[in-house]
Amino acid sequence: MPRHDFSVAVKRQLALRAAHFCTNPLCLRLTAGPGSNLEKGLGTGHAAHICAASKLGPRYDENQTEAERRSANNGIWLCRECGDMVDKDEPGFPVDKLRAWKCNHEAMIAEVRQQGWSKSIELLRSNSMSIDLARRIIVLFEDRRVFWASFDAEFPDRVRMSLEQLRANLSTLRRECAPEGSMDKFIVALLKTIRHFFNQVEHLDLTKLQCDGGNSDWLFFEMALRTLRKSVGYQIGVLANSYSISLQGELAESIPTPK
Ligand SMILES: [Zn+2]
Repeated sequence: MPRHDFSVAVKRQLALRAAHFCTNPLCLRLTAGPGSNLEKGLGTGHAAHICAASKLGPRYDENQTEAERRSANNGIWLCRECGDMVDKDEPGFPVDKLRAWKCNHEAMIAEVRQQGWSKSIELLRSNSMSIDLARRIIVLFEDRRVFWASFDAEFPDRVRMSLEQLRANLSTLRRECAPEGSMDKFIVALLKTIRHFFNQVEHLDLTKLQCDGGNSDWLFFEMALRTLRKSVGYQIGVLANSYSISLQGELAESIPTPK
């Protein structure tokens, strides 16, 4: 059975694109360094195929041409252990997930390159931390019925309280982010969206407002809430997608899938 392996040049490109770090966001092990022999460098990385090099391999795609199978676009840089893991547990590591890892990792490396070294280390560390943060942000939204239960929207004051609490929770999470890092910026964007909603409904007395299709204030409130849900839903969808986190229950149904 023919194997469509990567050339040495392609492997080198993959290592460079990943800056020799394992691409798995939970690992990020550095795969290059000095050997104990003063003349030698030590490489422990591995150019893994996203879609297998041969028919019986993991994630094999029969529609790929030989050139596509051998191209850097079909490769991902991993440490040996992660390389082994993604190949032995194929269902746990589908093509989409590996592509998302690669895309995020390369974007992060591009960002890291703009910074000084100590800042780079901080960014790398914050990236592995940010998966945990991403999960916690999503849980906050799963816990807030205001985003998916239509019934809750019928109580504007409840909506207000829920959003205010959410704002406080998000601000607390921000303290754990690297300042100006991508997760920090993400939370700031969410806070801005929520603030925009509050600005819009500022002139309404939410404690008195009641569900009434004939009341223009009510209709205005309902529209503002719908816009908020859509905008927040989109942002949460992007977050979940980029960290390969699956959304649960009603929240999953109410969120548009970003393309
Ligand atoms: Zn690894």
